[in-house]
Amino acid sequence: MKAYRAVLTFVALFGLQCDDSNPTSSTGSTGSTGGTSTSLPSAFNHFVDAVTVSVQGTNIVLEAEGIPNHTSPYWGSSHALYEAPHSGMVVNPNNIASQNLTFTIPLQPEVAPTISATSLGPVGIAVNGVVLYNQYAAGNAPLTSEILSFDRRNGHPQNFGQYHYHIEPLFITENGSELVGFLLDGFPVYGQKDQNGTLPTDLDTAHGHTGVTHDYPDGTYHYHITTDAPYISDGYRGSPGTVTQ
Ligand SMILES: [Zn+2]
Ligand SMILES: [Zn+2]
Repeated sequence: MKAYRAVLTFVALFGLQCDDSNPTSSTGSTGSTGGTSTSLPSAFNHFVDAVTVSVQGTNIVLEAEGIPNHTSPYWGSSHALYEAPHSGMVVNPNNIASQNLTFTIPLQPEVAPTISATSLGPVGIAVNGVVLYNQYAAGNAPLTSEILSFDRRNGHPQNFGQYHYHIEPLFITENGSELVGFLLDGFPVYGQKDQNGTLPTDLDTAHGHTGVTHDYPDGTYHYHITTDAPYISDGYRGSPGTVTQ
């Protein structure tokens, strides 16, 4: 009887806590249900607070300093997030520097008739505000030698300190199916796996496919990261927006 009463008390308390939290969560939610075409898709809630996200007309604008929220040898030895290079790493001479990035991407991306090529420099933005680059080094050379300079999280800075990922950002993709970020065409990038835990076998030549994801239960075109080139994408499946830096 005592135990039964304890369970009742627990249920009552738990119920109270739930009631208590409801007003806060409904007020603070941007909501994917019942939204209009001008509301921010809930997937954008994955961005860290350091990234400013807003809807401006038919676009989503993301402003970021582009610095990682994790350790790296490229912070420089006096920085709190500094870590020593890992075994075999060939550290490049650059240090991480704060950037002034503005990505303007379509709010409602659409699959375009043709795939457009990505260029060197930013092709997208990860949910931690770090820039995504394509599968090439300077001169459109393969990443073969650059890969040696990636830190344990698979990033490195270029000559003006812009830190970026060309390949899977291991800080973000711990379980494989996480939202990594968005490319300039507004389509999301996911880890290697789909939400059911399987590796997709139907990626198109841009490196994506259409299907449901954690954030898009009704389905969307999305890219997947692979361990081999092109790693993130091989072009934009939609029409790319712009980035200023
Ligand atoms: Zn690079
Ligand atoms: Zn998928």
